[in-house]
Amino acid sequence: MLQPERLLSWASSPPHLQFNRFILSGYRPTMSAKDCMYSLFYVHNEFLNIHSHGLPLLYFVFCAPAQVPWQSISDSVTWLVILHYLATISVLLGSVIYHLFMNHHGGPVVYKKLLQFDMCGIWTLNTFGVLSNVSAAFSNMSVLCWLVPGLYTLVSFCALHEAMTAETVRTRVTSFLKPSLFRWVVTCLRIAGSAGGSPQAVRHIVWMEIFSISGGFFNVTRIPERWFPGRFDYLFNSHQILHTLAILGILHLHWGTIEDIMWLSRTSL
Ligand SMILES: [Zn+2]
Repeated sequence: MLQPERLLSWASSPPHLQFNRFILSGYRPTMSAKDCMYSLFYVHNEFLNIHSHGLPLLYFVFCAPAQVPWQSISDSVTWLVILHYLATISVLLGSVIYHLFMNHHGGPVVYKKLLQFDMCGIWTLNTFGVLSNVSAAFSNMSVLCWLVPGLYTLVSFCALHEAMTAETVRTRVTSFLKPSLFRWVVTCLRIAGSAGGSPQAVRHIVWMEIFSISGGFFNVTRIPERWFPGRFDYLFNSHQILHTLAILGILHLHWGTIEDIMWLSRTSL
C-alpha cells in the first residue's frame, strides 16, 4: 500500500493533475481504484477536499431526511423535496468521486470523465436543487408558474453544455453565472414583494447565493495559495475554501427549500 512519504511534488505529479501550480506538494501518484480508496485514510493534498464533502454526504443521506416535517408537506409538492434531496446528494457524491479517483491510473481520459461527473453534480444542484424556490416565487401566477421554472431549466441546460466543454477553471466556473443571475432576479422580485414564496426562505437563499459566488471567486483566483505558493498545500487553499463555502451554501439552500416547501403546502391547500 502507498505510504504518505511517497507523495509527489507538483513538478513530478501526473501532468493532468498539475492544474494548480501554487500547490507544490502532497500529490498522489497514479494508482488503482482500490489504492485511491485507501487514500481516504492518510493525508495528501486532496484529503480535505474528499472529506469536506464526504461527511456532509453521509449527513444528507442518513440524517437530514428524518428532520423534514413530512406530515406537514402536501402530496402535490413532495416531489420537489425529493428532487431537492437527490440534487443535494448528487453534488456531494460527484465531488467525492472526482477528488477520490482523480489520480486513477486511467490517466487524463478517466480524469476528464470524473470532472464531467463533478460538473453534472453541480449542475443538478443548480437546476433541480433550487426548483422549489423558483417554483414558490411564481406558484400563484397562472402561466408564469410553469413558464419561469421551465425557462430556468433551459438556461441551466445551456450552462451545463458550457461547463462540460470548458477548457479552463475560469470558464467552467463562469458558465454557472447565467443561472445565478436568473436566480438573483427571482430573489430580488421576492425581496421587493412582487413574487411569492416564504419570506423566511429569502434570507437563506441570499446566503446561499453569496456563499456560492464567494466560493467561485476563491476557486478562480487561487487565493490565498497564489500569494504564498507551497504554504497551503494541505490546508486553507482556495479549493478547500470553496468546499467549505459550498457546504454552507448547501445548508442554507436546504433550510430555504424546507421553508418554501412548507409555504407551498399551506398555500396549495
Ligand atoms: Zn471540489
